[in-house]
Amino acid sequence: MSKYIYPNAIIATAGHVDHGKTTLVHALSGVWVARYSEEIKRAMTVKLGYITIGLYECPSMEGEFRIVSDGLLKDGKCPNGDDPVLRRKVSILDVPGHEVLISTMISGISYIDAALLVIDASMSVPQPQTEEHFTALTIMGLNKLIVVQNKLDLVNKEQALENYKQIKQFLSNTWARNSPIIPVSSLHKVNIEAVSTLIDKLVPPKETSGGNFRMLVLRSFNVNRPGTPPDKLVGGVLGGTVIRGSAKVGDEIEIRPGLKLGNKYEPIVTKIVSIAIGNEHIEEARPGGLVGIGTELDPALTKADSLVGSVVGKPGTLPPVWSELTLEFHRIERPGDQSLKEVTFKPKDVIMVHVGSAAVMGIVKGFHGDKLDVILRKAVSAEENSKAVITKQVNNRWRIVGYGILKG
Ligand code: GDP
Ligand code: MG
Repeated sequence: MSKYIYPNAIIATAGHVDHGKTTLVHALSGVWVARYSEEIKRAMTVKLGYITIGLYECPSMEGEFRIVSDGLLKDGKCPNGDDPVLRRKVSILDVPGHEVLISTMISGISYIDAALLVIDASMSVPQPQTEEHFTALTIMGLNKLIVVQNKLDLVNKEQALENYKQIKQFLSNTWARNSPIIPVSSLHKVNIEAVSTLIDKLVPPKETSGGNFRMLVLRSFNVNRPGTPPDKLVGGVLGGTVIRGSAKVGDEIEIRPGLKLGNKYEPIVTKIVSIAIGNEHIEEARPGGLVGIGTELDPALTKADSLVGSVVGKPGTLPPVWSELTLEFHRIERPGDQSLKEVTFKPKDVIMVHVGSAAVMGIVKGFHGDKLDVILRKAVSAEENSKAVITKQVNNRWRIVGYGILKG
């Protein structure tokens, strides 16, 4: 097996729909991530897309930003003609920005190391999903943000400065108030080397962690083309992020919550038959990258993201499975937003509960003091005291209204 350089951080995009997240990922990587027919038709990111990029030093490049990524290399050379020196790899997770897809965004960011908050310089700040995504990052306890002030080609200097001021104002009094703000044009690949350099500078390499292997499933696939003969069928594939430990080809794994049989969930047990990052087959899955794990499962079980939200680990090591939750609720308030202050829960209210990479619909059973009891439409596997992000429709819009700490 060749010496594969493992990515050592996961960086997610964030920001309002159409502000240029996917275009920025293209500028950084040279690849359009996750272009499904549905996405091309609607010109909108629908699913989580992920890609691993190399960060390279260009030793004699001018200016302070000398670290470029794959999307800036031309014929394998730096923009100034230098031979690029690979420093490290990082994984980029591209999230959808549309309001109805907020659950997909929240499920994606539960174990990221940093975020690229993309803001369209030609629009006022914050746009609704800029605010929602920033709230999600805040609840997740993120502490590294790079603000990408995009579409600079569409504004004049005064407009750019005014937009910059609005970004500063928006982030003032938050954990992200000192985050760098980088003016770019993702479409024209202007100043992208500043983004890649800052990613390298601000996001330290994740340390390898011990403990039992655990992975959160972000995507699941049937990778067989229709009409593949049965003896050529490849088993189901799980894509996700390893949050601790490691696993190798040949290891036995358990998947929870698993299959619903009657009122109970039966964990799924299978074996890892392959591990890949992008198109590279590797021996070991560990934290830092977004990996694909090939299994012996019937691909019908994994097709069309059906196992998204599951937790994978060595058999007997996974957290409990819950079909009903009691959450200690913490409200999210935003200055000047009366509607969030007034949010409450009545029996039968429909909410979305996000734990780990799971996003499941919940029906409220009761709300007393800060105790929120919820019946889940689909079970989740999670540790007690995990944090669950709660969204609910407020004035016909899905909003993050708070989070809950899982209490037995
Ligand atoms: P997302 O919804 O945030 O992922 O946004 P996309 O990357 O899909 O971009 C939305 C639209 O904005 C597309 O038509 C892009 O071509 C356009 N766009 C993205 N970046 C830039 C930019 O830097 N300048 C200009 N003029 N258009 C851009
Ligand atoms: Mg997009």
